[in-house]
Amino acid sequence: MRNGYKVITLLKDTSLIGKEVTVQGWVRTKRDSKNVIFIAINDGSVLDNIQVVADAEKFDADLLKLVTTGAGVEIRGTLSESQGKGQAQEILATHIHVFGTADPATYPLQKKGHTLEFLREIAHLRFRTNTFGAVFRIRHHMAFAIHQYFNGKGFFYLHAPIITASDAEGAGEMFRVSVLDPKNPPLTETGEIDYSQDFFGRATNLTVSGQLEGELAAMALSEVYTFGPTFRAENSNTARHLAEFWMIEPEMAFYDITDNMNLAEDFIKYLVRYALDNCMTDIKFLNDMYDKELIERLNFVVNNNFIRLNYTEAIDILVGSGQKFDYPVKWGTDLQSEHERYLVEKHFKCPVILTNYPKEIKAFYMKQNDDGKTVRAMDVLFPQIGEIIGGSQREEDYDKLVNRMKEMNISEHEMWWFLDTRRFGAVPHAGFGLGFERLLLFVTGMKNIRDVIPFPRTPKNAEF
Ligand code: ATP
Ligand code: MN
Repeated sequence: MRNGYKVITLLKDTSLIGKEVTVQGWVRTKRDSKNVIFIAINDGSVLDNIQVVADAEKFDADLLKLVTTGAGVEIRGTLSESQGKGQAQEILATHIHVFGTADPATYPLQKKGHTLEFLREIAHLRFRTNTFGAVFRIRHHMAFAIHQYFNGKGFFYLHAPIITASDAEGAGEMFRVSVLDPKNPPLTETGEIDYSQDFFGRATNLTVSGQLEGELAAMALSEVYTFGPTFRAENSNTARHLAEFWMIEPEMAFYDITDNMNLAEDFIKYLVRYALDNCMTDIKFLNDMYDKELIERLNFVVNNNFIRLNYTEAIDILVGSGQKFDYPVKWGTDLQSEHERYLVEKHFKCPVILTNYPKEIKAFYMKQNDDGKTVRAMDVLFPQIGEIIGGSQREEDYDKLVNRMKEMNISEHEMWWFLDTRRFGAVPHAGFGLGFERLLLFVTGMKNIRDVIPFPRTPKNAEF
């Protein structure tokens, strides 16, 4: 069944010229010119189509009627140097087989030029457009490059659980996992839902982060990374938030915050360089179609050192900027994306790594500084995106960690296994989380995070 060559090969491999070849794919366009029919075939292997030229007289007219935009076909013929301009090689057809038709009257992608919003409503079909072909090829290459990067550095890929019982990080933002009857759940004496009767004998959720498990493994394997789906039930309907997204979380023993920043910068530059080296056809398409500065921005990131500065210095810059923000800033407030983007796009014109945030706005596990006010957090801020990475050196001191948990009302009792890493063989360590779709927003130049994941999950939306 699987037969012939991918389009990418047919377009490139000049040694096939003059040979009989077969291509399997989908019709993108069909154009009649006198007795010659031009059919553009795409199979997803590359952005470009291969042109098929068919002599109308040699084929049954009823068969040719079925060859319409969207139809699934197999075409055999001779590969030739193209007469027309725009393509190097084309197929002079001798056999045409239609596997599946696509009725022009009802096929939604009959015409070009649909909006991204409309295509989101037909996410099951949008793979068939140039734009989403490009985006999802890039997505694949970035996933591959991530594994290649860490494998080359001796990191081990850790599969963190997707169902977790710990809710230390995101109280109130988690999706519950339960098999109890929602209409008639068992209740405790005080009238609460009795999760001890649930599947796991306790309340469980979809994970918001693999970090805590990453820390456990790093205390033996030294350098690990997770790369899996994470879930947040926060109701933030923005162009940068999904309820289900993928995160890459390296966790390294014997790393301090500087090592952590160095790794984050090197990692992200590697990925962007990989995209420029391996995905240029698709990037160039997206650059020309959607974002004329995309390639320039990608090159800039690869070729320049990220600015590193303290949260406190960033606040001084923002306060002194005279800029009007929707959310006012002062020391102690969490930075909004408008502040992050001001620093990156207006002030420094360069990616920024911010460190040493106030402890009140960061998680309990971050290493406390001697000033008693700040923690060794680091956020990597990017043009167009804002925060792309969040990370920290971790608090390895048992007493300091427990004190902070008490202050934040986090149960030591439930987190006994996490605290064990500080009881036995604790060493300095650090890590961070890169949002995979935020990286893809940057690399593709797309503006909405719903357009870089195949089937976006956002509030009130899980159709496909
Ligand atoms: P933000 O402030 O942008 O909501 P966060 O501080 O809650 O992000 P972290 O908990 O630090 O995010 O998660 C690490 C990384 O995961 C972020 O830097 C970002 O790249 C990504 N990320 C976080 N939340 C989302 C989301 N809802 N959708 C997509 N990516 C996300
Ligand atoms: Mn963060």
